[in-house]
Order: sequence, then C-alpha cells, then structure tokens
Amino acid sequence: MARILGPKCRLCRRDGQKLFLKGTRCETAKCPVSMDSSKRRQRIASPGQHGAKRSQNSDYGIHLREKQRAKRYYGIMDRQFKHYFETANKMPGNTGENLLILLERRLDNVVYQLKLAPSHSMARQLARHGHITVNNKKVSLPSYLVKAGDVIKLRKEKSTKAVKPHFDIADKTTMPSWLKIDDTSMEGHVVQLPTRSEVALPINEQLIVEFLSR
Ligand code: SF4
Repeated sequence: MARILGPKCRLCRRDGQKLFLKGTRCETAKCPVSMDSSKRRQRIASPGQHGAKRSQNSDYGIHLREKQRAKRYYGIMDRQFKHYFETANKMPGNTGENLLILLERRLDNVVYQLKLAPSHSMARQLARHGHITVNNKKVSLPSYLVKAGDVIKLRKEKSTKAVKPHFDIADKTTMPSWLKIDDTSMEGHVVQLPTRSEVALPINEQLIVEFLSR
C-alpha cells in the first residue's frame, strides 16, 4: 500500500500546525512550528519560494486543507481516505464522527497512541514488519480496525527491546482513555471504542464531509 513520502515538516508548515510526523523531534525546539525565535515566522510560513506571500484560502481551499490535515496526520492516501468516507457514510449516525472514529481505530494509530512508536509512520512499520499481535495473532495490516476488548502486544522479544527506550520516556498522560497499557508487560488494551471527544487532532470533520460529498 502506498504511503506519504517526502519531507514531513513541509506538511506541518503548510497546515501551520503540528501533525507530529517525525517522532521525538516534534517535541523538541527543532520543530519549526513550535520554534520560539525570530526565525519562527520565516520558517512557519508555507513551504516554497512564495510560501510567505500565500494569499488567504478560498472556500474550496479551506475544505481541502481540513481533508489534507486528517489524511496526513493518519498517514493515508486519497483513495484509502475516500474508502473510509464511503464506509462512514453507510454507518448510522454522524458521517464526520464515524470517519474520525474509523481512522482512530486503525492499528497503526493505536500502536502510536499506546506509545509503542514515536510516530504514525514508525507504528505502521512495526505492524508491516510483523512485530504486532492482536489477541495473540500476528497482524501485519496497519489498516486493521481494532475492536473493544482487543489486546495489542509486541510479538518478539527483540521488538520489545527496540521499542522500550522510547516507551519508557514517552508521556503516558496524553494517552486517550479508550486505551490502556501495562507499563511492565507493554501489553495494550482497547477498553472501548473511541468517541469523537477523544480524537486529539483539532479538526472540523464537517468540512471534510462537505468536501468529499461534492
Ligand atoms: Fe516537523 Fe514534527 Fe514539527 Fe511537524 S511537528 S514540523 S513533523 S518536527
């Protein structure tokens, strides 16, 4: 499955907000979006030669930005994003909320939220390379949708060793309440399915729905 490649900080700069695409670097002063210096204004400008002069977004642009933000944060491509939208549209309830909840339930997002990986792309790689089990079965599909009661673990001892340095220093207080992890065994639990209020990404899902329903 294709994935987003290329310079990641440009994507955050285009959005003017942190999308946490580079793991631990995103928490440091090196992040151009959180930079607190005279250089900040220059570096947070949209990428490209004329980025600083970019004019106000049109109505279409505002809707597009919202869709791009969600897509980039979760690291998925247009076709797959559309597929999630169509699935969310067929589900009962609010389409925008359903869409965000489907995206939150992806295995790579859950591994990231459980602090087993510093970024979505690392989490995706862990799953792809067969390091993750769900209910004691190897799952190598990053798009696998977790269910309430699922138990997520690292499959091999060498995977645990590789992940532990990041896991030990990660801030567990930011973990959403629908997930739980045991600090010693590094065994993650899906306590319940997420709700809209537990999605940390600041996003207006209604704009995405309007954009994709055109
Ligand atoms: Fe780069 Fe991470 Fe900052 Fe985004 S949040 S600009 S990826 S360092």
